[in-house]
Amino acid sequence: MKAAILSVGTELLFGEILNTNTKYLSQQLNDLGIDILYHYTVGDNPKRLSETIKDALKNCDLILTTGGLGPTQDDMTKEIVAEVLHDELCLDKAILKALEAQFKRRNWNMTENNRKQAYFPSRAVIFENHFGTAPGFALTEGKKIVICMPGPPKEMQPMFLNQVKPYLNKDRNGFLSYQMLRLFGIGESSLETALLELIDRQTDPTLATYAKQGEVKLRIASKRETEEEAEAAVKEMVERVKEIVGDYIYSENGEELYEVVGKLLLKKNITLSCAESCTGGLFAETITNMAGISEVFDRGIVTYSNRAKIEELGVKEVTLERFGAVSEQTAIEMAEGLQKISGSELCIAVTGIAGPTGATEDKPVGLIYLCVRYGEKTICKELRTGNSDRIWNRNYALLHMLFLIYKTIL
Ligand code: ATP
Ligand code: MG
Repeated sequence: MKAAILSVGTELLFGEILNTNTKYLSQQLNDLGIDILYHYTVGDNPKRLSETIKDALKNCDLILTTGGLGPTQDDMTKEIVAEVLHDELCLDKAILKALEAQFKRRNWNMTENNRKQAYFPSRAVIFENHFGTAPGFALTEGKKIVICMPGPPKEMQPMFLNQVKPYLNKDRNGFLSYQMLRLFGIGESSLETALLELIDRQTDPTLATYAKQGEVKLRIASKRETEEEAEAAVKEMVERVKEIVGDYIYSENGEELYEVVGKLLLKKNITLSCAESCTGGLFAETITNMAGISEVFDRGIVTYSNRAKIEELGVKEVTLERFGAVSEQTAIEMAEGLQKISGSELCIAVTGIAGPTGATEDKPVGLIYLCVRYGEKTICKELRTGNSDRIWNRNYALLHMLFLIYKTIL
């Protein structure tokens, strides 16, 4: 299925608000295996809105619009969509009643304008809005579908997840089921090579890879007559993929690496501390995004200078002199020192050259050392990213830190 996303609102064109709806919906449709051909943004202008919808329908079977569903004069998406798809607006009494009740409950005054929100194209399938007043809807003509949702993300997102997504999944050509596997430590092309046989022969389930900064996502999707069949086909393919590249998979439901690691630490009740040089606190920042992590996360220390490494972690001066701050020996002493002062069961340390400057004759930018102390065990890892981008290197180090912890405690 080919789709376009259409954002309606003059304030988007003025740059007053950032178009986050398009980003959100693009990711969601992508997950569903729907190809997005175009992003359109158009102001609150009936003629241009109408032209844009007609244009999008030339190449796409599906348009998702956001914005312009409200009660005011400049909200006109519904009227225009009805017109383009040769339908007309009718009063939906059930929606009117629900609106009236909602206004009464909130002690709001209902104006004539608000009644406008109870009018829908006669053939529309209506999506209730539990977080605002403007319901959304789907309108079809032949094989073409236009789905309209309100502009505010807090209203649009739950409407999409709870109502639009099931609508899109249902019925048309059977049921779609998919699973998103996330892998780390294997490149996209290596993954494709490893799975070549499965990918080559695919008709259903389909396998698609997406790369993102050292990480790869693998989407396995199946469309069958019943939901059960689709789910079973996906499950079976997931098992076959796991047999081949299971070592690299850290999540089978799209979860972020830090969430997977956080959950595992909590489940196993393993206390954690970190000492960061090259990532400058990024690890601590990321892991503390996880709600409830205070149960196990003790401390994060940023030891950027040699002096800090000596004073805070007890790294030996002679080690720094002989091997340098960016070395396996220093990483080990950082982790050991951290374990002494924190008493945490698992301590991770990182030191590296984030770039773009700082390279020496024998140490290139992107050289990074990680060390994990887990109980009595010491596990080190050397990374050579070959990249001089500072942000990229720091993020890459972060992912490796998380993955090293994941592998260590698994
Ligand atoms: P309302 O009933 O609130 O008027 P609406 O469907 O008419 O909803 P708009 O009036 O177009 O939506 O937009 C309302 C608000 O929603 C905007 O002021 C903005 O804050 C947010 N919004 C609209 N479109 C987008 C978008 N594409 N991305 C992010 N936020 C958006
Ligand atoms: Mg509005």
